[in-house]
Amino acid sequence: MNSGHSYVTLNDGHLIPALGYGTYTPEELPKSQTLEGVKLAIDAGFRHIDTAYVYQVEEEVGQAIRGKIEEGIVKREDIFLTSKLWCTFQRPEMVRPSLEKSLEKLQLDYVDLYLIHYPIPMKPGKEDFPTDEHGKSMWDTVDLLATWEAMEKCKEAGLAKSIGVSNFNHRQLARILNKPGLKYKPVCNQVECHPYLNQSKLLDFCKSKDIVLVAYGALGTQRYKRWVDQSSPVLLNDPVLGALAKKYNQSPALIALRYQLQRGVVVLAQSFIERKMKENVQVFGFQLSLEDMKVIDGLNRKLRYLGAEFLADHPDYPFSDEY
Ligand code: NAP
Repeated sequence: MNSGHSYVTLNDGHLIPALGYGTYTPEELPKSQTLEGVKLAIDAGFRHIDTAYVYQVEEEVGQAIRGKIEEGIVKREDIFLTSKLWCTFQRPEMVRPSLEKSLEKLQLDYVDLYLIHYPIPMKPGKEDFPTDEHGKSMWDTVDLLATWEAMEKCKEAGLAKSIGVSNFNHRQLARILNKPGLKYKPVCNQVECHPYLNQSKLLDFCKSKDIVLVAYGALGTQRYKRWVDQSSPVLLNDPVLGALAKKYNQSPALIALRYQLQRGVVVLAQSFIERKMKENVQVFGFQLSLEDMKVIDGLNRKLRYLGAEFLADHPDYPFSDEY
């Protein structure tokens, strides 16, 4: 079954495929793996690809998509591509040039969705993670509302069909929604979301504002050593997910992905392994009962795998709020 067959309508009228393929690639892996991964993902049926400037794989992502267009497997308009504005480019005058830089790397004319990656501006310069002599992150002072206005201009210029945010808490979202003269609402908020951190309050808030919640880390993340506490429990080893997998004759991964779709969440799934990609697009082929959805709700334990510790000292660190 093709993931392109299930879409969610965004508040600006564009459609987003409900299942997306993530392209974060740990530093220790060769980028050729991303190139191969995106090609295999498109062959498997993924039509929504999620990337970001800071992942440093936009060249490979673009090359894979263009390759599949040249092969005649897809047309550009069949693919929904997201990229993200990194924290060191939040000054309004840097937003469009940053998107243009991403497009140059991708060798594409537009992205379908451009997101503010985190609600915190960092010091512009050569470093993606600027730090002082004590190893502390260095900030910039930029009003998020000014950044948002620059995002709106990117949409008007046709460089991004839709614009949204990532890792915003509900207060930060509300600030944008309440901006005087707001032209376009964020279409989505992309956040960590899985049965151990089900984001039910943030999801309710987003739904009430017609903002789609996009889930990353939906399978418990890749558990990259740089970012994830290795002693944290492995989501896909959860016995309840395991029992449900048996009951539905599916894998724990599919149970975790299906859970999100049935809550109206757009879900990302990452893998470099063809078998797993082919498995993940089967998420549209079965349904969890309401009772079992509640059982999965019961697994919530506010466990955040990706705490973005490099931002934790900032007063606007998004994850200090309850939601
Ligand atoms: P994820 O999708 O939660 O999980 C990936 C892990 O699940 C991989 O290690 C993979 O194993 C495993 N997996 C995938 N399919 C499976 C299956 N069918 N059965 C068993 N295991 C399976 O990982 P993520 O990369 O953290 O998140 C997804 C994407 O979200 C990222 O790639 C990125 O695009 C985005 N993201 C965004 C942000 C943000 O700040 N906005 C942050 C993090 C991630 P194998 O390695 O063995 O294939």
